Amino acid sequence: MPGNVNTNGSALVIHGVGDLRLDAVLPAAPRSDEAVVEIAYGGICGSDLHYWLHGAAGESILREPLVLGHEVVGTVSRAAEDGSGPGAGTAVAVHPATPGGAGARYPAESPNLSPGCTYLGSAARFPHTQGAFSQFAVLPARMLRPLPEGLPLRTAALAEPASVAWHAVARAGDVRGKRVLVIGSGPIGCLAVAVLKCAGAAEIIAVDVHEEPLKTARLVGATETILAADADAIAAVEADVSVESSGNYRGLDSAIRGTMRGGTVVMVGLLPSGEQPVAISLAITRELDLRGSFRFNDEMDDVLSALADGSLHVDPVVTHEYPFSDAIEAFNTAKDSRRSGKVLLSFTPDTTPGAR
Ligand SMILES: [Zn+2]
Repeated sequence: MPGNVNTNGSALVIHGVGDLRLDAVLPAAPRSDEAVVEIAYGGICGSDLHYWLHGAAGESILREPLVLGHEVVGTVSRAAEDGSGPGAGTAVAVHPATPGGAGARYPAESPNLSPGCTYLGSAARFPHTQGAFSQFAVLPARMLRPLPEGLPLRTAALAEPASVAWHAVARAGDVRGKRVLVIGSGPIGCLAVAVLKCAGAAEIIAVDVHEEPLKTARLVGATETILAADADAIAAVEADVSVESSGNYRGLDSAIRGTMRGGTVVMVGLLPSGEQPVAISLAITRELDLRGSFRFNDEMDDVLSALADGSLHVDPVVTHEYPFSDAIEAFNTAKDSRRSGKVLLSFTPDTTPGAR
């Protein structure tokens, strides 16, 4: 193996329902187009929780041990041998997607829709695509996005979910001056609020079943908040645009009911597969545009720029940080949406300027 970098380390591996282990791993030798990244932070995503709690995330069923983690940032410890990608010592965010699906029909500008697309830390295909909750990760150099000068790794740790939110808001079109309803104020909902503020929405009304997440929503730009049980207040919003980020049919129903005639509903919260009981006839009589939103493409570059120049303010979305060694406790905290937003795992001490 070329070079002298020690790529021994531990990784957070899901073996089955409730069976999350910190395993010693020996990462494969990098191919010539792969770099070794020393991971600094990893955000725990809903899909990571689903693998842990249910052994599956939607239709992706765990069939072999899987290193979790797709929301990671770190520092290149060894650059790709072929010279592609950033050099050693560069702080980077990671774009977890590898488009696929040659020959399938989808818009060329939307590789996120390619049917063969793989994603780090996903059991969608077999063998699974191993993730990056590890001290060192071997990653294709093309996935690495150098952080703009002065952007701390800890803030950049939200770049992946913020890109999901950025893509969702972009799906709504121009939101400047508009009234936008955000259903669900978990990490993606709160990040959507932050992106909407950055994009110039005039009114941002956030909804959640719990009061705690609404506090975070207010900190990142919500101008008004409503508890989900208050159906009348939601219906009275008559939003130009609604962003459904709860991933629950009741949330989608609220989004439809809270949108004005002729308005747009963007659906980013991933609903369970199968039939969903929602008041869909309203979408006909109100001429609503229902738009799906799935992952993202190059939005991560815009997100990193906006995080660096301060126009996108997301820090309150992170409510907890745990060292990697306390991963089980971190996952327990993350599954309690009443008391946690985004939970970060820290893998190494952060030495970038501006880090806490
Ligand atoms: Zn995620």
